[in-house]
Amino acid sequence: MDEIRRVDPEIARSIDLEEKRQLNKLELIASENFTSLAVRQAMGTVLTHKYAEGYPGKRYYGGCEYVDMAEDLARDRARELFEAEYVNVQPHSGSQANMGVFFGMLKPGDTIMGMDLSHGGHLTHGCPANFSGKLYQTVFYGVEKETGYINYEQVEELALKHRPSMIIAGASAYPREIDFKRFREIADKVDAKLTVDMAHIAGIIAAGLHQSPVPHAHFTTTTTHKTLRGPRGGMILSRDEYARTLNSQIFPGIQGGPLMHVIAAKAIAFKEALAPEFKTYQQLVIDNARTMGRLLTDAGFTLVSRGTDNHILLVDLTNKDITGKDAEIALDTAGMTVNKNTVPFETRSPFVTSGIRIGSSALTTRGMRPEHMDQVVNWMIAALENASNQERLNQISKEVEKFAGDFPLFAW
Ligand code: PLP
Repeated sequence: MDEIRRVDPEIARSIDLEEKRQLNKLELIASENFTSLAVRQAMGTVLTHKYAEGYPGKRYYGGCEYVDMAEDLARDRARELFEAEYVNVQPHSGSQANMGVFFGMLKPGDTIMGMDLSHGGHLTHGCPANFSGKLYQTVFYGVEKETGYINYEQVEELALKHRPSMIIAGASAYPREIDFKRFREIADKVDAKLTVDMAHIAGIIAAGLHQSPVPHAHFTTTTTHKTLRGPRGGMILSRDEYARTLNSQIFPGIQGGPLMHVIAAKAIAFKEALAPEFKTYQQLVIDNARTMGRLLTDAGFTLVSRGTDNHILLVDLTNKDITGKDAEIALDTAGMTVNKNTVPFETRSPFVTSGIRIGSSALTTRGMRPEHMDQVVNWMIAALENASNQERLNQISKEVEKFAGDFPLFAW
């Protein structure tokens, strides 16, 4: 940081303030996590200088022999971690991983079937504002109103009726285990390809604590920065028979040169995920989420699906006198960062919403355990109950800051 401070004090200020925010507040955004120093350092290395269009051993630029080593390591480790035949570690983001698969396997106008955005799906699964909703015909499945779970019979009925070319499983706000085997059976019945977007739960899957999609899906896509705890980026896993098509869709199809510094950081994160303690970490991620869920339920809060199997809690605030938007603001003022989120069968706009999404990955990375969740949830409840009492929110924020000060960003 010293050199950044010398060269560009304005940018140094932005970084310093953001670091302070991350240290002083409790990060409860389910799609975020903290990375190891090694992962962060890799992104600040000379690898950022290198153009390496193409793939290891077959590049369009000279001087790639050393960055090839990094990409080979990233690919080998990802294959081992997820027991996959084929992997592409070049997508710059989760959205680009999905775009690579869709462009490779679909024609504009084909039908895709994904989870409704307001039920927990992602923008790239067919939302009208996204390329996926603009280029393809879309059909959406959701969760059951009474249970909050995916209804596989409904998914099958919709598939038989609309005969999509591609079915997408995976979500951004679904707290329950997803049955990928069942999704594949449905896809096979209508001769559709199955893409599983495991972005949120990739780390839990890597640890063997959630059914793996890799044996079932034609294509598995992911981000590398959520529960998987790597740098911001994307990845595709599949079988060798799709290698040529997928490789050429990522480069030259939708991307130019890969971000070699990020690929090196991905390799480091995969090495960390292969270590035995990563499984212990992921078990604690689940235990922390379940503990927060139980405490919130005991205090009269409603959880979509009544609980969680992963790192996500989706809190439905409909029975409380507060919107998702106001809850997000109150919690942020009190030192806890969450995001407002639509709940299934939402009645408010996406800018207001009736829910908040809470995640346990980042707090767990800081070294927090189930015994700390009591305190965290007590502050959450106090902030939500005093959302218009600025003084009380500021007081909570001070307590949170003192508590958070005992935990590093990356404890293990
Ligand atoms: N897929 C899912 C399920 C996600 O939750 C997200 C991001 O939140 C993405 C894809 C997109 O990832 P990115 O923001 O890297 O494009």
